[in-house]
Amino acid sequence: MDASPHFLLLAATLLDSSLDDDTTLLQLHAVFGPMLLSAMQLVDRREVVHVDLGGRGLYQVSSSAGAPYTLYLDLPELPPPPAEDPRPETVEPPEENAGEAVLREATEQAARVRAVKLKAANDARLRANAEKLRHMYCPCTGWAFNALEGRHIFCKHVLAVLLAHRLGQTVRTRVGVHAAAGLLGISA
Ligand SMILES: [Zn+2]
Repeated sequence: MDASPHFLLLAATLLDSSLDDDTTLLQLHAVFGPMLLSAMQLVDRREVVHVDLGGRGLYQVSSSAGAPYTLYLDLPELPPPPAEDPRPETVEPPEENAGEAVLREATEQAARVRAVKLKAANDARLRANAEKLRHMYCPCTGWAFNALEGRHIFCKHVLAVLLAHRLGQTVRTRVGVHAAAGLLGISA
């Protein structure tokens, strides 16, 4: 029942994108099938609730069966906000002396090095996110079925939390200790 690293990296990469273009949605649909639509409906209906327990969080997702499912998920690290546009290219400088040319070369070289470093950091983040996906768990039967079939470790609830997380559409709630204990099924 081990999901392939390639599949997890693909899922992590797709779920990392801004989810606002048709191509990404089609790719997600190719990967997750009808589960994608079910998960998006949960997000649209604001049925993904992040229960903030003071730093640590758990998620509750509505269930058609009755009580909501409670998921403890170590969520992927979101991409950094897009960098601000660098200063607009100045139109051809009129004349460049040797010193200026060297300086420009150095600046361009530094920009290339920065781009390579950024790419490496991003790749590492995506690999770490893929590893997090491997450990996602939901107590629903759909999850158990997929896992036992060796298909993947997703169900519509896990996927709904991931989509809501990426889209910033999680409903947030803070609960007191007693309510939290009730959620967790322990007495406080
Ligand atoms: Zn589930």
